[in-house]
Order: sequence, then structure tokens, then C-alpha cells
Amino acid sequence: MTTPLVRTIRLVASVALIAAVIFVYFRVMAANTTTTVALTLLLAILGIATQWGLTESIVASIAAALGFNYFFLPPVGTFTISDTQNWVAFGAFLVTAITASQLSVRAKRRTAEAISRRREVERLYALGQAMLLSGNVRSTARDAVNSIIRTFEIPAVVFFSKADNEFFRSDTQQTQTISDELLRGIADRGEPLIDRERQIAVIPIGLGGLAIGSLGFVGSTLSAEALNALAYLVAIGIERARSLEQASKVEGARQSEVLKATLLDALAHDLKTPLTSIKGAVTHLITKQRDPEEAELLAIVNEEADRLNRLVVEVLEMARIEAAKLHPDRAPHRIDDIISASLRTQEELLKDRNVELRMPESLPAAEVDFEFIQQVMKQLLDNAVRYSPPGSPLAISASLAGEKIVIHVEDRGRGIAENEQSRIFEKFYRGLASRDEVQGTGLGLAIAKGIIEAHGGKIWVTSEPGKGSVFSFALPVHKGELVR
Ligand code: ADP
Repeated sequence: MTTPLVRTIRLVASVALIAAVIFVYFRVMAANTTTTVALTLLLAILGIATQWGLTESIVASIAAALGFNYFFLPPVGTFTISDTQNWVAFGAFLVTAITASQLSVRAKRRTAEAISRRREVERLYALGQAMLLSGNVRSTARDAVNSIIRTFEIPAVVFFSKADNEFFRSDTQQTQTISDELLRGIADRGEPLIDRERQIAVIPIGLGGLAIGSLGFVGSTLSAEALNALAYLVAIGIERARSLEQASKVEGARQSEVLKATLLDALAHDLKTPLTSIKGAVTHLITKQRDPEEAELLAIVNEEADRLNRLVVEVLEMARIEAAKLHPDRAPHRIDDIISASLRTQEELLKDRNVELRMPESLPAAEVDFEFIQQVMKQLLDNAVRYSPPGSPLAISASLAGEKIVIHVEDRGRGIAENEQSRIFEKFYRGLASRDEVQGTGLGLAIAKGIIEAHGGKIWVTSEPGKGSVFSFALPVHKGELVR
């Protein structure tokens, strides 16, 4: 900015320069060719225009025209002009001087503009590079603020990240004029605020309709184009960091999944192989044994091997469910088929039980994995038998409820206390009343829950202690096909 004093000094200097030219020609060189004088004066005016500006050059032009007329156009020594031809020369001089001044000032402004544009492009390029080198979203945001301050020489900058609801301020003092609310508002509305008077600008940062946040500048004189380009660069930088972060998380999760699966498979093999050998050996010995004491001991080994085997199978199954390794092979299946298959495999267990079956005439097929749902049924039947008095009746029913098929397994057993009804689905949880009387691992219901949930279903219990329990689970209906 030019102060009034500097401007006055320049105006005086311009007039002085013209006076000096006139003096040199009039006194020292005593040139009488008006053309030479006029051209030299024009040259001086052009110099003033390019160096200082239009006002100075117009004042110089008027001074030159007056001096030219006074000292060189006849009658010399007066401001009058006798000859019409000289009037033309005088007019041409004035017009040329002013037009040339205008042109040269315009050219100078253009050059200055081109230089500042080039500088902006260079700075944007530097910012782009800085942003591409950053790592995660937080460090990219911080780097963006620091690089803008450094490369664009802006006193203070603040960035608001909408997704993380975080503010990155270059300093707390100077950025105070841009409040958190203002930044949030601009990010939400997507409309920039440029206040030239207070020298603050807040612009929204977004990419393809996605609002990323906003960027506030204190003391910035950047053009609207530069601000837009800057916003775009920051948006790209932040989104790039976010997608890199996402990709590395996915890769990390994938690797840990692969690791878990490999470990589980190795564990399954290492635990099951010796158990199978023990079981084989003990069964062989039992058939040969005559001594009753040894026979009893071998029976214990046999039972314990079975128990250990069940524990290994259940623990591994649970681990698979927890590692999200359970992939049900879903297809349309009739629920009564699954129930019949489960009853068949549990025939031995249910031999002294009366199992009542209640099913509606027509029931849509369920979209399930046959084996897995059969496993759940077997578990519920096994529990019903283990936790109810010998010979007490059981009931299985199925019905349609909206888009789900609900299956209930009912017993007249000891029931479950209300405060335990949700806990029994937790892994390793065993009911207080039964844990010492009935053998178990506390994993059966947790596995059943994992299987049902992997089908997008739900499992729950209703029970009246002392009277019995009803275990229910809901499964998705197969759309379209009606069975029976
Ligand atoms: P486990 O039977 O090996 O203990 P489960 O996960 O199958 O493990 O069951 C957890 C607990 O839920 C059992 O310890 C028992 O207290 C309770 N429970 C399960 N089924 C029944 C049932 N039909 N009647 C009463 N209690 C039950």
C-alpha cells in the first residue's frame, strides 16, 4: 500500500523529472527540434508510468504538455499556440502520453498478476506434495495447516475435521476470531464466508458431495480461485489419508483372521489326534479286560476321553464362531425335516421321553444351513434332557411369525432363575443350581447363539423356575417357496 506521503513525493518527483528534461533541452542543449524534445518527454512519461502508476504519469503528461508548449511551441515563452499545426502537435503529444501511460500501467498490472498466479500455482504444488507425504488423517490435517502457513505466508489457519469433530488450530490466539460454531456451520452449509474487512475467510472442504470439514484463514489475501484450489487439495489429501487408514485396517483384520484360522486348524489337529488314539486304545482294552477293578478304571478313562473330546470340539467351535469363521451354507430347508433328523440322531437319549410335536399344516421353508440348525436342535434337546427329571415329557413346536419361523423346545425341568436367563447364553456360564449336579462345559448355548446369529436370527429363553423352560429361536423364511 502506498501512503499519501510517498504518493506526494512521487508526484513532485515526476514533475521534477519533466522539468529537468525540459531544462536540459532548453538551456543546455538548446535543441530546437520539437520532435526530439517530445520523444524524450514521452520516454520519461512511460518510465514514470511503469515505475509508479497512472496518476503520476498523467500529472507528468500534463506538466510535459504545458512545458513543451511554453518552451518549444511558438510563440515561445507563452502558453498560447499560434499555429494550427502546433495545436495538432500539442494535442497529439498529450493523447499519446496519456494513452501510452495507460497501456504501460496495464501491462505492468498484467505482469504482476501473472507473477502472483504463478507463485500461487507453485505454492499449491508445494502444498499438494506436503499433503501426499502425510500419513494418517490427523497428521495430514496438522500438516495441511502448517504447510498453508509456511507456503502461503498466512498468519493463522484452522482446520475443522467433521468426521472426527476435531479442530486443528495453528495457534489459539490468532485463530480466536474464527469460532468452532462458525467452522461447523460452514462445513454443514457448504457456503464460504469471505470477510475482506476483518481479513478472515472460512471455506467448506468437501469432495463429490461429501462434507469433510472447513478451513479458516486469518489475514489472508488469497484470491477466490486460490482458495478453491486449496480447499480441493486439502480435501483430496484428507480423503486419501482416510482411505489409506481404512485399507490398512482391513488388511490388518484380514491378516489376523488368517492367523486365527490357521491357529485354530493347527490346534484342532493337535488336540484331536491324541484323543482319537486314547479313545481307540481304551475301547480295544475294554473289550479284552476281565478284571472288574481294571474294567472300572478303563470305563472312567473312556468316559473322561469322551468328555475331553466334547470339550475340545466345543471350545474349537466357539473359537471359530468368535473368529467369525462360521460361514453357514444357506439354502431353503423344511423345518420339519431338520427336526426329524435331530430326533433321529438323539434317539438313544430320548428313548424314555415322550416328545410332543406341534407344527402348522403349511410352513414356508427356512433359509438355513441344515447341519448347523440340526446342531442347535440337538443341543437344546440334550439340555432339555439333562436339566429335567428322567421320563418327563418334552415338546417341540414351530410357527410362522412375520418373516421368521420360530421354533420352541419345551421341558418340564427345574427351570432357570430370572437373573440367569440372559447369562446362560454367555460362554462358560453354568447355572448356579445345576453346575455341581450336571456335567457340562457352559459352551453349548453360546455356540447355539453364535450359529443362530450367523443366520441373522435370534435365540432366547422363557422359564418359570420349578416348572420348566422354553428355549426358542427365530430363523429367516426362504422367500417365495411354500412347502407342504
Ligand atoms: P452346559 O449345559 O454345558 O452347562 P449350556 O451352555 O448348554 O452349558 O447351558 C448353560 C446353562 O444354562 C447350564 O449350565 C444350565 O444352568 C442352563 N440350562 C441350559 N438348558 C437348560 C434347561 N433346559 N433347563 C434348565 N437350565 C438349563
